[in-house]
Amino acid sequence: STTVRDREWDGVGRTADDQPVKVLANVGSPADAEAAIAAGAEGIGLFRTEFCFLAATSEPDPHVQRAAYAETFAPCAGRPVVVRTLDAGADKPLPFLNAAAEPNPALGVRGIRVAFDRPDILDRQLDAIASAAGDTGADVSVMAPMVATADEAAWFAERARAAGLRRVGVMVEIPSAALCAAEILDAVDFVSVGTNDLAQYAFAADRMTGALAALNDPWQPGLLRLVAMLGSAGRELGKPVGVCGEAAADPLLAGVLAGLGITSLSMVPTALTAVGAALSEQPLARFERAARAALGERDPLRARRAAREAL
Ligand code: PEP
Ligand code: MG
Repeated sequence: STTVRDREWDGVGRTADDQPVKVLANVGSPADAEAAIAAGAEGIGLFRTEFCFLAATSEPDPHVQRAAYAETFAPCAGRPVVVRTLDAGADKPLPFLNAAAEPNPALGVRGIRVAFDRPDILDRQLDAIASAAGDTGADVSVMAPMVATADEAAWFAERARAAGLRRVGVMVEIPSAALCAAEILDAVDFVSVGTNDLAQYAFAADRMTGALAALNDPWQPGLLRLVAMLGSAGRELGKPVGVCGEAAADPLLAGVLAGLGITSLSMVPTALTAVGAALSEQPLARFERAARAALGERDPLRARRAAREAL
């Protein structure tokens, strides 16, 4: 039998019966983007813009932002790039955005919530992204982190479209957003599931706490069922639903996610080849069967085993 390492991939994300599932990379800098494309990514599924400015003590000048974005888009001509607006707070505080101390930062004013207080900072970032996108051949879309409701998604979509960005989405990483998948998809063009935070909030288990790692296992049936709701809503409404959490980097889980209706997977670049190869090995109907098998199990170990047996 072939091991993951032995597998080959031709660089086009699709199942054995040619159903497209984009295989994309998560990046945090221009250098990351260049390395990701060199490693075979079809594009960028998550550009964590806050990583460009972790050392900044004040809001980066629009020209500085524009340059960082343009440099990141440059290697991606003709390819999709999904830019996430600043996701500040909790584990990634930005001194110019986040309040000094909150009793519970993971549940505090973070992600898009910061923008409700300071929409001017969001608008300047959206303008810089739109301006940088205009210069490159990259197919740029934008999404907001930590969206909890359809109203928040609609609020963001309006501002992003006003800035001239045509493809607008939000991340689904809070369980309430997964439960309102249809209403959120109605407000935007696509969603991307952040399984790292979605697991953290669904299981009330801090993702940074090693002792709780078993609850943050992406094979938890409780997490898979939330992803299934999103995949079904995406199929019903004909809108893309991606996954950009670490779950997307697991080659066995990648097929299961495709079977749940996920249309793109974005991951750490070292996983691209193994995931691309795993997707190409089976037709979508087989992945759907594996997904149904995993969903019906009661724990991660059984879910993994059921998927493996179905494939
Ligand atoms: C996630 O939460 O799954 C995600 C992709 O975003 P981040 O890891 O940057 O919080
Ligand atoms: Mg997140």
